[in-house]
Amino acid sequence: MSHVFPRHCHVTLPTTVAGDGCYLIDKDGKRYFDGSGGAAVSCLGHSNARVIKAIQDQAGKLAFAHTGFFTTEPAEALADLLIENAPGDLDRVYLVSGGSEAVESAIKLARQYFVELGQPERRHIIARRQSYHGNTLGALSAGGNALRREKFAPMLVEMSHIAPCYEYAERPNDESLEAYGQRVANDLETEIQRLGPESVIAFMAEPVVGATLGAVPAVPGYFKRVREICDQHGILLILDEVMCGMGRTGHLFAHEAEDIKADIVCIAKGLGAGYQPIGAMLCTSHIYDTIKNGSGFFQHGHTYLGHPIAAAAGVAVVREMLDNNLINQVKLRGKFLANALEAKFGDHPNIGDLRGRGLFRGIEIVADKKTKTPFSPGLAISAKFKKAVLAEGLICYPGSGTRDGKHGDHILLAPPFIATEEQLTEMVEMLSRALEATLPK
Ligand code: PMP
Repeated sequence: MSHVFPRHCHVTLPTTVAGDGCYLIDKDGKRYFDGSGGAAVSCLGHSNARVIKAIQDQAGKLAFAHTGFFTTEPAEALADLLIENAPGDLDRVYLVSGGSEAVESAIKLARQYFVELGQPERRHIIARRQSYHGNTLGALSAGGNALRREKFAPMLVEMSHIAPCYEYAERPNDESLEAYGQRVANDLETEIQRLGPESVIAFMAEPVVGATLGAVPAVPGYFKRVREICDQHGILLILDEVMCGMGRTGHLFAHEAEDIKADIVCIAKGLGAGYQPIGAMLCTSHIYDTIKNGSGFFQHGHTYLGHPIAAAAGVAVVREMLDNNLINQVKLRGKFLANALEAKFGDHPNIGDLRGRGLFRGIEIVADKKTKTPFSPGLAISAKFKKAVLAEGLICYPGSGTRDGKHGDHILLAPPFIATEEQLTEMVEMLSRALEATLPK
């Protein structure tokens, strides 16, 4: 009997024993193409020599030093590298152990910033429905994924949730993309007015919505309008790039595609590429200096802040991306994958939408393509698809909840940046066979 507390208590999972490039290998020798990097984590595949060596070298030098006493070379190097390559005015890096920690840090930093400014009445965070920002209680409160929130609802912090920017499902046919984007962005203004502008801290959003909707970018102009509204009211813009950041969309930072500046950005997953648990929160020097010149201390922290081995892995991951021009490769391979998906599923009666950016792609499965009606939740399409696709030897990330958090099915794809065109073509074939095995006859 296994004593590991698994994610799904009733499912017996294969035991994976090795990683080889884009593949995971289980103990029976079966190979699985990692088409989603777990959940957009393994961007460099599973056996990157440079990252492995960086971890080994750092472990041999210094495994841990508490950030209350020391900074370390790898933490400094990673912060420098991120800031050199970050857009806008991002200037300080807070290194944590994962995505939820990065989001919690962002929420608390944003609040403390206003306390230091002498505006303690600011306490509201506005986020979006159909979003996911992590599983710790603060991050879960910000997220709008109904299913993930449900069991913990009475314990969550009160936060506002406005409409997502999800044009496939929510834009009326007679409204232009631009008009739709402006209208849903203006929901932010309405909510700020309802709460009272002087009581709002920040707006938080994923530039490309990951786990909940399946690789949904905003329509053009949406984030520009959001930025304008935040500026009008002196409200911070927090971008959660935990899943879509670090090259995944063909930009090191996903919001580069929107041509806007963020006040705080959260990253994780691709930063450690799965080799080490690491995340980061980046903020502007204005926010940092406000705290420095105020109480001088960010009232937050975790034991493993700036962990040297994790930071050394992060440096190797980012250098590997930059030195090998992998981000441009993501753009090219992303186009190739988008075309292959379009060719295979564009006319499929149960594929409603194909979307995404770079190597971050979503496929929405529907019962009726014309009316965009999802399958009934009782059919458990996503769960069945996950089983069928695993049997094919493919790992992807199916999700259910694209409509109201409880209803609607999608598949999220996030293959390694090193995947070849042949491997991506084979992945599409495996997806197609698994889909036919899943759909009701
Ligand atoms: N934010 C986003 C956008 C995410 O996709 C996730 C993880 N799926 C998180 C936060 C939480 O990250 P972690 O699981 O590393 O805590």
